[in-house]
Amino acid sequence: MNKQKLAILGSTGSIGTQALEIVRQHPDKFEIVALTANSNWELLAEQVKEFRPKYTLISDEDHYQDFKKTVSDAEVLTGAENLPAIASLEEVDTVLNSLVGFAGFESTLEAIRSGKKVALANKESLVVGGELIIAELKKSDAELIPVDSEHSAMLQCLVGESMDDIEKIIITASGGPFRELSKEQMQKVTVEQALDHPNWSMGAKITIDSSTMMNKGLEIIEAHWLFDIPVDKIEPVIHPQSIIHSMITFTDGSSKAQLGLPDMKVPIIYALSYPERLPLDTPRMNWKEVQNLTFEPVDFDKFPCVKLAMDSITKGGYAPAVLNAANEVAVERFLNKEIGYIHIPEIVKESLANIELNDSLNTETLKEIDKETRKFAHSIIK
Ligand code: NAD
Ligand code: MG
Repeated sequence: MNKQKLAILGSTGSIGTQALEIVRQHPDKFEIVALTANSNWELLAEQVKEFRPKYTLISDEDHYQDFKKTVSDAEVLTGAENLPAIASLEEVDTVLNSLVGFAGFESTLEAIRSGKKVALANKESLVVGGELIIAELKKSDAELIPVDSEHSAMLQCLVGESMDDIEKIIITASGGPFRELSKEQMQKVTVEQALDHPNWSMGAKITIDSSTMMNKGLEIIEAHWLFDIPVDKIEPVIHPQSIIHSMITFTDGSSKAQLGLPDMKVPIIYALSYPERLPLDTPRMNWKEVQNLTFEPVDFDKFPCVKLAMDSITKGGYAPAVLNAANEVAVERFLNKEIGYIHIPEIVKESLANIELNDSLNTETLKEIDKETRKFAHSIIK
């Protein structure tokens, strides 16, 4: 593998910091050209000192002065509106988009437009604007490689296969911390309980999404766009151990699965090295130990977010963007302890029923829909 010039958007987050651990293991394979963060300027400053990027960006302008003082030989930018410029820098080959939420969409689009290899953790990009991103991808020589563990598993199962031979994608889900609660018990769920995921340690937003299983809904939309597969051929299945990261069933009845410990470094390094592999120093499965790999159906009644997401993609147009914006607002207000846990799907459902979706799909109207939905979602919370 040739040395890659890498921009990491959201380098201070859960995915971003794990990507930097990989870079530390392979200094001969990666050169860091740009690092960005939202507000954690102290950690970003440490990263800049260690990896010496040519460009760095702190989105939150309140921390610009403090941050700038610590950086001597990199160009320091501020403002989230400059993220797409970082994503399309001439000097960059590969963009790892590990931003969270709609905030990552335009950077994905610009990176694709400018022909980059995009390692995509920011699944919300594809949820809100999959149609626009895939259209740009077809026009350019860019590559879009998933970082999400399920989609990395799908990609690994599909190497050497023909897309026409896919019968079904089985997307596995841990079921989150509330898999065994009753609907009544879920009424009383606290922020602390929802943040305590049984298998994965991740950023706050995706951890809440995993507990409501909105994450699986978003991932079904993500798989739909990445692999050009209709949603009714993507089947979510609960697999509490998170060892099988997803499966493909082919038209001859054979299924392939990808397995491993729940460790995001594995799909991150695969996205960065694809189609090759690089060695990774990280714990391995012990196959000599007894493993109980179990499966159960998804309870759509207890986890209404999965269906809301699946229905939104069937509805098409802006519906997934409305779903995403309403969910971002609901999760943020829940994390601030301003609404109850069970209000999250209610806010999403009400927003989907109320936002008009007539305009044709483009970046400007998408941003408008996102803004309008946020306004609406906040207003129903009041
Ligand atoms: P995180 O909250 O830990 O990190 C997010 C990063 O983005 C931080 O560096 C933060 O400074 C930056 N950021 C956040 N909001 C921003 C904004 N508005 N403008 C600019 N920068 C902003 O999140 P994470 O868990 O690393 O997740 C990142 C993405 O990867 C999400 O889309 C998530 O769904 C996806 N993902 C994460 C995991 C995981 O294990 N953490 C697994 C699969 C997919
Ligand atoms: Mg995932």
